[in-house]
Amino acid sequence: MSSEQVAEHYNAVKEVGVEKRTESRIFYMRNFNNWVKSMLINEILGHLRQDGVQFPRVLDIGCGKGGDLRKWDIARVSSVTMTDIADVSVEQAKGRYEEMKDRNRRNFFFPAEFIVADSTKDDLMEKYANKMPFDISSCQFSLHYSFCDEQSARTYIRNAVGNLKPGGFFIGTLPDANRIVWAARQGNGMFKNAVCSITFENTEQLLNEQLPHFGAKFHFTLDEQVNCPEFLAHFSLLQKILVDEFDMDLVFVRQFPDAAKKWMASREGRELASKMRALEKYPPFPGQNPSGEADEYGYAEEQLKKMNEDGNKQKYIECLSKSEWEAVCMYLVFAFRKRKPEPEK
Ligand code: SAM
Repeated sequence: MSSEQVAEHYNAVKEVGVEKRTESRIFYMRNFNNWVKSMLINEILGHLRQDGVQFPRVLDIGCGKGGDLRKWDIARVSSVTMTDIADVSVEQAKGRYEEMKDRNRRNFFFPAEFIVADSTKDDLMEKYANKMPFDISSCQFSLHYSFCDEQSARTYIRNAVGNLKPGGFFIGTLPDANRIVWAARQGNGMFKNAVCSITFENTEQLLNEQLPHFGAKFHFTLDEQVNCPEFLAHFSLLQKILVDEFDMDLVFVRQFPDAAKKWMASREGRELASKMRALEKYPPFPGQNPSGEADEYGYAEEQLKKMNEDGNKQKYIECLSKSEWEAVCMYLVFAFRKRKPEPEK
């Protein structure tokens, strides 16, 4: 599987509107993933603010169609660099940004840069118009593609964290290699439920041998959509590379269920979840909020009001079907922080 094939695959994935999305069998899972990403960003913003960084500069690597742009807007970033290997996706992200800019009701709207690049091969540093270091590098559901071979993974990691400020964060979401291997071994080489399936390219190796550090290929289908082949990214290996070679410290790694438990215990987490939940039951009218996400400018307020009038106070997680929940359990969320130089004595 070459990088070109990954780009081809993602370029061909159609942008679906909010209405169609509500019909998907993994609708709640998608919203749950968005909630996890929002809460992750929130937690990191808290650390940065304590350090006096109010308006962080962000790199979104493997940004896809720009699904996190709204989150960056809410996070009051000073700028965002969006980069992905799939040129059509980057173009769509740019279109989404322009739309948001037009609808913006504030004086300031953050500047953004859009770069088509293969982060397993190119040097992103050469491509930035503004080479100032970042406060946050965010890599959502993307880093594991680079674990096809060692050189690709190392180049991707360097691109992700090589231009971070001391004290800056590397955050992301990843398929949980341990959990995936466990589930596939339990099923004698394959895992399958109503919404997802996992198969390994080399079943013999999965069942009888140690899996390689790089190039452990598997196929993950979600909602019957065949995805391009993915690779196990062993978290302890990622951690070792970041700690030993890039001056990073692990802040946390959590499996999605643990992350949900932690963030649902906070008022902020529950409020955001109920806002998103309101959008599920009362999707916005077409054109009202194309990203389909709750935001703080009132797009979801109408829906939230209706939800409360209906007395619909169901808990967010209860909406996930058992199969969606099993799929959610296959992921983890992490944060690393770039070490600051020791103060001189
Ligand atoms: N981050 C987005 C999100 O959370 O919705 C998109 C995630 S999508 C599952 C994975 C993304 O990684 C795709 O847009 C794909 O094109 C991108 N990707 C895969 N390999 C890449 C590479 N070598 N360089 C840059 N982007 C890559």
